[in-house]
Parts: sequence; structure tokens; C-alpha cells
Amino acid sequence: MDRRQLLAGIGAMAAAPALAQGDIPRWSSPVIDMHFHMRRDPAQNIAHQVGAGVTAANLLTGANAAPQVAALRAQNAALFPSWFASANLATPEGAAQLTAAIKAGAKGFGELKQHVDADGPEMRRAYDLAADLNVPVLIHFQDATADSTDAWNSGLVRFAAVLKAYPRTKFIGHANSFWGHVSADFKDQTAYPEGPIVPGGLTDKLLSDYPNLYGDLSANSGHNVLTRTPAFAVDFLKRHQDKLHFGSDCNCEDGRGGGAAQNAPGVAAAVRGKCVARETLSVLTHAATPEIFRKIAWTNAHRLIGLPA
Ligand SMILES: [Zn+2]
Ligand SMILES: [Zn+2]
Repeated sequence: MDRRQLLAGIGAMAAAPALAQGDIPRWSSPVIDMHFHMRRDPAQNIAHQVGAGVTAANLLTGANAAPQVAALRAQNAALFPSWFASANLATPEGAAQLTAAIKAGAKGFGELKQHVDADGPEMRRAYDLAADLNVPVLIHFQDATADSTDAWNSGLVRFAAVLKAYPRTKFIGHANSFWGHVSADFKDQTAYPEGPIVPGGLTDKLLSDYPNLYGDLSANSGHNVLTRTPAFAVDFLKRHQDKLHFGSDCNCEDGRGGGAAQNAPGVAAAVRGKCVARETLSVLTHAATPEIFRKIAWTNAHRLIGLPA
């Protein structure tokens, strides 16, 4: 596909359904959902993957969830090849809990989402530990905005210094600030910026400048950055094709947008009542070549967590 065809494809997106076979989408390569919060009901962990046509999921859980992960893997190991563990780094036990989780088989830390600065002492403990254990760290970057006081791991604008100071740590960025800052005009105006992307933003630059930074395209924020300016998305995916991976962070119950959580009024309008996995994979199908789609949906993540693709 050349660029013109890609753009024509994006234009036709509203009319064209995902590559559907029956009711289940069939994507052009296998897909691993790298941002799937483990659900309490084991059946729901399976239902979401099946409904969205996803091949496998990386489970995000608390650090003590090894038994639940093992139970899911006993049912279907291929569907759940890996998991990431989170803990509160502000507590004295946090680091030990994360270490124990990695010893128990977790492949990364995350997602880490705390009311502390991304370059503060609590998070730096995680960055040192992740380097020692050779696992990536998935971070929810969200500064307060004019329309929301919610703030977790604040300070992406200062993060270049961290990337430089921790060259052995593999950082995975995600969430509102991380994807908002792809646009050069982002100044924390709103949690979900709209309108055309202004090229030259901070996140684009950090991804280009630091080999130890990766991007997780999950949630409304990831979907949003790919849909604001379709032509920009084509180039962005091409530019960072070896450093981005797919994730859903979806709250729907069935891989089709069903269930109360994904239909709540607080869910961003673009994905309310829809499955984020289906929506983002549809955008990627149209904005990326099949080769780049495969990297983002499958191979990049496997390389990052050290599993064969
Ligand atoms: Zn998050
Ligand atoms: Zn979903």
C-alpha cells in the first residue's frame, strides 16, 4: 500500500467495517493486547479477547496475583502468555513486592499509576529496580489539566532527564499526558485534546531521541492520538514502528463494547459503548501497512518482554 492508498483507506474508515468474519473481527496479523487489566471473573478475561478477535493478552495485575494468573494460564496458556505487576512504590514493601512478582514470572512493572511525580524518589526506585531485573516499566502519565484535577506520575515535560539518567531501564509511556504531548500545542488544556495535531510535540521527540522509551497505544488517549489527524498518524506509526505496541485498556465485557463500565457517562464519547480494542485495531489497520501493523500488534511487544513472537 502506498501513502495515497493508506489515506484513502482512512477516509473510507467510517463506512468500512473491520475485517469481519461473522461477528468477530479478523485482523491482518495475530494481536497481543498489552494493556489488559485482569478481571475478577475468569470467564470475562477470555470473553474480551474472543469478542475482539485478539490472540493473546498481557494481564495487568497487583503484585500478589501470581496464583490467579496461573489459574488463567492453566485454562489457556496461549491466551495469557504474560503479566505485569503493580505495587505502591510509596510504601516500604513496594519494591520487595515487585521483585517477588518478577521472580514469580511477571514480565514487567505496571501499570504504575500513583499520585507522585514521574521523576520523584518513589518512581525512581522502580526505575532502578526494573533495570536490575531487566523488565520494562509501564507508566500512566497524567498531569492535571484545566478540566481535570486527576494527576498520576506527573511531569512528562521533565522526563527527558530521567530517560537520560536511566539508560538501562525500558520505559513504556501511556495515558493522557503521554499522547497529548504528541501535539506541540499541548499545554494541559484538557484531558482529551481535540483538533489537528501540531507536529513537533514532546512525545514524538522523546520517542525519536531515546532508545529506552516505548509507547503503549491503549485507552481513549491512544485511540485519540491516532484519529486527530489521519495523515499525521500514518507518518507517526511509520516513524516509530519499532517502538509502539497495541493495548486496549478497554472496560467492555464482551469485546463488543457491552457492559456498564464502557457505557458510563464518564467514558470519552469517541469510545463510549464501543470496544477500544476493536476501535484502535481498526484505525491501525487503515493507518499502517500490514508489515507495520504486525510489528505494533504483535512482534514489538514480544521483543520487549523477551518472548518469542
Ligand atoms: Zn493507565
Ligand atoms: Zn473491549
